[in-house]
Amino acid sequence: MSIEPTPYQNATNQSISERDLRHVWHPCTQMKDHQWLPMIPIRSGKGVWLEDFDGNRYIDAVSSWWVNLFGHTHPYIASAVKNQLDTLEHVIFGGFTHEPVVKLSERLVKLAPKGLTRCFYADIGSAAVEVALKMSFHYWYNTGKRKKTRFITLGNSYHGETLGALAVGDVELYKETYQPLLMTPITAPSPDCYFREEGESWEAYSLRQCEAMEALMAKHHEEVCAVIVEPLIQCAGSMRMYHPAYLTRLRALCNHYGIHLIADEIAVGFGRTGTLFACEQAHITPDFMCLSKGLTGGFLPLAVVMTTDTVYDAFYDEYSTLKAFLHSHSYTGNPLACSAALATLDLFEQSPVLERNRELAAHMAKATEHFRDHPHVAEVRQTGMVLAIEMVKDKASRTAYPWQERRGLRVYQHALKHQALLRPLGSVVYFMPPYVISESEIDQLAQVAWDGVQLATLGG
Ligand code: PMP
Repeated sequence: MSIEPTPYQNATNQSISERDLRHVWHPCTQMKDHQWLPMIPIRSGKGVWLEDFDGNRYIDAVSSWWVNLFGHTHPYIASAVKNQLDTLEHVIFGGFTHEPVVKLSERLVKLAPKGLTRCFYADIGSAAVEVALKMSFHYWYNTGKRKKTRFITLGNSYHGETLGALAVGDVELYKETYQPLLMTPITAPSPDCYFREEGESWEAYSLRQCEAMEALMAKHHEEVCAVIVEPLIQCAGSMRMYHPAYLTRLRALCNHYGIHLIADEIAVGFGRTGTLFACEQAHITPDFMCLSKGLTGGFLPLAVVMTTDTVYDAFYDEYSTLKAFLHSHSYTGNPLACSAALATLDLFEQSPVLERNRELAAHMAKATEHFRDHPHVAEVRQTGMVLAIEMVKDKASRTAYPWQERRGLRVYQHALKHQALLRPLGSVVYFMPPYVISESEIDQLAQVAWDGVQLATLGG
């Protein structure tokens, strides 16, 4: 009897999607759309390319929700995971440990901003955010500051979809319905440079937004545990971007007012913004840094919250003091995921990834220069390997398209017919590709995006 898994025989896009739609409920999807919008069943992936069951190919321009760094099925990461599979697939992480997690923690501490010496693991990004929020609150609780129960967040921010993470986010579409279930954060205006005055620099605008933050801190510091931010790019908030000077100033304000800084680098970590971590560009060390997504090169779910000895020490005491952080997830520190993460870090060491990314980023900029003159493009913005094109109804006044028109969806549909997976956020088309994309593939994406934008903006 064969012990090989059965291969898909005679499967087609249609046969798989029909079976899918009978039982599967997909994330971030109005399932009824699939009455007319095809579900795309993917058979395999290689590098930046995905292939469906009918043999159509797509460039994964969004790194499969921003997780993939070095391409799909990268042989080096795959072989590291395969080796680990035969050694230890998983073990309880309370009271037990294993070599991959020890090695990974040692390497992360060396790479992270100085002072982040402690690694607490979870499995997904949202869980890491929950950990950081709870840890910050609990730190103040353990140190006698029991009035500190609230968080400051930025307008237009996104930190995940579990209830705590959702509460500190500010994207209405995801949050509005659940308001009655959520704690209430204090929301400071975003440093998002889309709103800068004409002629104003990114730096000047971002710094100007610090004033409102400072006023909120001055008023609320006694009740505030932490400020949580997405460094440099508010990704789910339409890829809006700001200047690192904001983070530098924010760090100083947090120090001054006795408030933690939580850097959610779940989407921007591991080279997306041009440096390994976005915080490096502001020369700061946050009190908590959340990592996930690219941590395993996009292979397996894993998340980590890195923090300081100061935080760690506030929990370190006799058991009977009940100061311990009693948070746990079943798959904490999974060895397979850690082996993928270690292989991912090897790939950063084995070649000058960030330097190559600078060339690719420059090429992306060149390939999309002409979008600036498009009558329905308000802005083309870029930070490192993330480039976004914002479509608007009226360029002069920057009037947005009504969301009901789903202009971005038209770009998505057009791209699927032309070998690209572009998944706009509302009316914002963006590229956040795996780092193994070639210059000619970038050109191809730019062409598909241009034709898609032309089509999507027809009729005003
Ligand atoms: N924080 C940020 C900045 C994110 O972009 C995301 C996911 N898009 C999350 C948190 C949540 O991560 P996950 O989807 O793995 O829960």
